[in-house]
Amino acid sequence: MTVLANAFSWSHSRHAVFQTCLKRYFFAYYAAWGGWASAAPAPAREAYRLKRLATRQQWAGHHAHGAIEYLLKNARRDPALAAGAETRQIELMRQEFRDSRAGAYRGDPARIPGLFEHEYQLEVPPAEWKATVDRVVAAVRNFLASDLWRDLQTQPDEAFLATERRASFLLDGLKVLAVPDLVVRRNGRVQLYDWKTGTADPEEHRTQLGVYALLALDRWTAAPEEIEAVVFNPVRGQRTEFSFAGGELETIREFIRDSADEMLFPLAHPETNDPGDGREFECTAVEASCKTCPFLRICPRWTT
Ligand code: SF4
Repeated sequence: MTVLANAFSWSHSRHAVFQTCLKRYFFAYYAAWGGWASAAPAPAREAYRLKRLATRQQWAGHHAHGAIEYLLKNARRDPALAAGAETRQIELMRQEFRDSRAGAYRGDPARIPGLFEHEYQLEVPPAEWKATVDRVVAAVRNFLASDLWRDLQTQPDEAFLATERRASFLLDGLKVLAVPDLVVRRNGRVQLYDWKTGTADPEEHRTQLGVYALLALDRWTAAPEEIEAVVFNPVRGQRTEFSFAGGELETIREFIRDSADEMLFPLAHPETNDPGDGREFECTAVEASCKTCPFLRICPRWTT
């Protein structure tokens, strides 16, 4: 079996997992590698299957993103499609919920979503599941009622530079991944949007938006003052704008370099991104982090 090389790259989400728990980071970025292939060794397939699980909060966020992506790509000129977006998304969620409850993801985790609550047989009251779907409904309704949606509907197709497109840039040879939810060019400015459906203070996302700004400098403009980044929370109908001066962007570059160095440190062979047997990656001492960790089933903290 030929497995793609697991080349090292940096992303803000990878940084967040690394900071949460080294063992979780090892499972997600090394143990699970190649586990999508049916011929992969059983431990890799198990780690991959667990990696693909989503908590109901993550699932709601994913569907809010999916609904907005659908609207932007298909419904900007079609009021009927826009009006049907809510029903369409609820139906998708119903189907995924039923499939997950039946364990369908175990046979095909790459394509069929699985819910953490089903994998670990957590008792979640029906009202809680309904509240999860209601968050997505609120996100779709608020987005459709927003000034932002009205404005985006008036923009020409060529103004849309990227919608949920995986992208990367090189920082001193290091590949940095970034996926802004939407990038639009308007009035000579590059506007980067990130949809957030949680309750965190938008300011907590500043560094992530700064990474998107670095991507924009690589791809769409050479001038930091032309970049505007926006966190838009469609559940709360809240919009927060950020701009980045050159000095702050240099600080973010430095942050990425330092973070990548930290990530490479526990590897057995950093030059080949070889983690060894994972022994150097310790379990977090913060038990609260384990409560929603998909790797509970295989984590030595809980199995030995
Ligand atoms: S269960 Fe806890 S200790 Fe184990 S990998 Fe997950 S977060 Fe880390």
